[in-house]
Amino acid sequence: MVSNVKLNKSTELVRLRIALLIGASLVVCFIGASLSLLPSNMYELYLFDKLFIQVPIFALVAAFSFWRHFSQYKAYIFFLSLLVLSFSNYWLIWVCWTEFGFVFPYEGTILYAFFCVFALGIPFTLAFIANALSLIGFIWLMWLAPIYGDRVVISSAFVAGSLFVCAYAKYRLDRTLSMLKESNERLLKLSKFDPLTDLLNRRALRERCAKLLAISKRHNVAMAVLMLDLDDFKKYNDSFGHQQGDEAIKVQASIMKATFKRDTDIIGRYGGEEFIVVLSDITPQQVNEHCQTLLDKWREVNMRHAEGAKHPIMSCSIGAVYAENVSKTSIDTLIDEADAALYQAKTKGKACFELSNI
Ligand code: GH3
Ligand code: MG
Ligand code: MG
Repeated sequence: MVSNVKLNKSTELVRLRIALLIGASLVVCFIGASLSLLPSNMYELYLFDKLFIQVPIFALVAAFSFWRHFSQYKAYIFFLSLLVLSFSNYWLIWVCWTEFGFVFPYEGTILYAFFCVFALGIPFTLAFIANALSLIGFIWLMWLAPIYGDRVVISSAFVAGSLFVCAYAKYRLDRTLSMLKESNERLLKLSKFDPLTDLLNRRALRERCAKLLAISKRHNVAMAVLMLDLDDFKKYNDSFGHQQGDEAIKVQASIMKATFKRDTDIIGRYGGEEFIVVLSDITPQQVNEHCQTLLDKWREVNMRHAEGAKHPIMSCSIGAVYAENVSKTSIDTLIDEADAALYQAKTKGKACFELSNI
């Protein structure tokens, strides 16, 4: 899981650097296109703006992407980059007009906004602020120098509309992504956890067990597997109804959650009213104590059982297996052994535990 997150982060960084390279290449392409438009006496000013302000911005962001804390601050770095790119464009428009009387196009502003917001991924709030500041800058520029003459109003409306669409589309995109993330998390939870008890389901239980067994083999530590089964549960269901039966299953789950609290302890619902606990780095004495605690907790709950049940209050039977040396064992062997021990506990009289060693 952790290495997956790391991998995603590094591929994300590679994608970002590719986006920066594309951005810088586009600026260079525009240099070529613009030079054919500009009078030659403006080349120096234009190249200064592009090569000493705009292209270095892309290089600087690429350099920042190697910084350890980059992901924490990247949204602000992109936000500042967008502002610098937009305002350096305004500065260019302004100087072209005041010093050379040349009407430089404003469309680059819109291109920069779309690039930084979508290709770099500025989140909605910062995108909105940056676009609002950019629009204010443009209107201010038009106020100081109405460069586009009778097209000032329509140009301002065009810039405002484009920046608004950019921010709004980002809002829709961020919202859709967060909804997708939420439903993904819900699906992931549903695929791993049993909805009644919130314990791991059988499939997730097996996956986790396989991992814990591999770790236990590597570190050469002992493992224990406990299989729990409610006593005379059919009779309980028949007497009190299925709903009440579900409540007993939930009680069993909460007893287990209260008993096994180490990060490495695995608790799951194996099926119906059968549960499994897998413990690593444990002693036989601790396993004994845990089994006894589970039985004691059921006694404390003091839940009346059905007429004809073996015991007057609800209880469970536990089959436990302790493996001192796990090097040659498998999860299936451990579960089969725990199941056999459970069968012995049931035949011994229920509401008790049986511990076997392998
Ligand atoms: P024993 O003491 O030998 O375990 O007898 P038992 O009656 O408990 O027998 P068994 O373990 O085979 O009982 C399984 C019963 O559990 C049958 C089924 O009706 C009930 N059951 C399985 N899943 C659920 C569930 O999700 N909710 C409820 N209420 N009952 C369930
Ligand atoms: Mg059963
Ligand atoms: Mg049972």
